[in-house]
Amino acid sequence: MKAISGTNLEQAKSHNRRVVIEAVRTNGPLSRAALSRLTALSTQTVSNIVEELERSELLKAEAPKKAARGQPITPYSINPDGAYSIGLELERDRAVGVLTDLSGRVRARIDKPVDRPTPTEAMPILGGIADELQRNFRFDRARLLGVGIAMPGRYAAEGVTSLSPVTLPGWQGFPVAPELARLVGVPVLVENDATSAAIGERLHGVARGLSSFVYLFLGGGIGAGMFLDGHLYKGSRNNAGEIGHMIVVPDGLACVCGKRGCLDRYVSLGAAYEYLDIGDPRQHDPETLAALIVQGDSRIDAWAEAAAKPMRQTIDVLELAFDPQTIVLGGSMPPSLLQRLARQLDPLHTPVNPGEERNLPRIMIGATGRDTALLGAAALPIFSETNPQFDVLQKPLG
Ligand SMILES: [Zn+2]
Repeated sequence: MKAISGTNLEQAKSHNRRVVIEAVRTNGPLSRAALSRLTALSTQTVSNIVEELERSELLKAEAPKKAARGQPITPYSINPDGAYSIGLELERDRAVGVLTDLSGRVRARIDKPVDRPTPTEAMPILGGIADELQRNFRFDRARLLGVGIAMPGRYAAEGVTSLSPVTLPGWQGFPVAPELARLVGVPVLVENDATSAAIGERLHGVARGLSSFVYLFLGGGIGAGMFLDGHLYKGSRNNAGEIGHMIVVPDGLACVCGKRGCLDRYVSLGAAYEYLDIGDPRQHDPETLAALIVQGDSRIDAWAEAAAKPMRQTIDVLELAFDPQTIVLGGSMPPSLLQRLARQLDPLHTPVNPGEERNLPRIMIGATGRDTALLGAAALPIFSETNPQFDVLQKPLG
């Protein structure tokens, strides 16, 4: 069991509420006594909070269990219908939305084709998807926590894009969060795809309950989302994890950033299309790569072998710099290709302490597949409402 400390100060009630929800989410159904032990909160504080969370239907009581002596014990679990969230993802060629419940299960989904939309074109499409998701599934609207949106690129503090992603021209400086909040009428959180995916994997995937891990998002480029000592780490200017522009081959291939030999140029979907000589941008689709794997195309393995060397070096640097429990591979790259790449990484560089026992593999594949950023986007409002360390995320607008 993972311990998360609370505080008994009355003014920290909302923090303690988050601590209790997080403990149940991470460990599964827990009794009041177990919650009190785990959170270091007094039994009275836990009782009050559990009562309040049960009343607001965020927690539900499971069937009481017989105890060895004394009263039967009632475990409490997350009530999936206690809250809902909408996740949106905008890519060059598609806009997707999902409605998820508090447990992260997808209850409705909408896909719309787009073609490198400008902000003026994209906003009504995204707003329309959010509306349609609410109409397609009957639920208590008052329980909708908000909308999360994942986009490639970096973000400034108020949900404004700080760097125009090469994949989506015209978005530089566009205030995504406030503009979308105006359309949908609920709070909107915006994050880059790697950070969204890291949050999604931590809430519902292989990183559930981990306090330190690095999520490597392989998409058009490569970026990292990081949880360090239980905190989402974004850096002083929100640029932590922009590892795609780390030089891995001195004087190597030219990069859009102006440098040469960046990781992006060797380990990303873009690098794979280039290596496989897929010149037609209409074929620049992860499905094209998944199909080549099914066909047994040997060039795929050749690419994975070529990509493994800079990737191994990157993993070595991340492990030495951050000492994570594990490194999770995911992104919009097809899972079958991620697995090929992961296989080629073996053996990794020797760790700093080779004899040390590990309870997790050094590399894991994310559980949420190609929808990882989308599910992570849906997790943003849930995370912001229920995570005790939310203070590092931007405040929702709406
Ligand atoms: Zn670069």
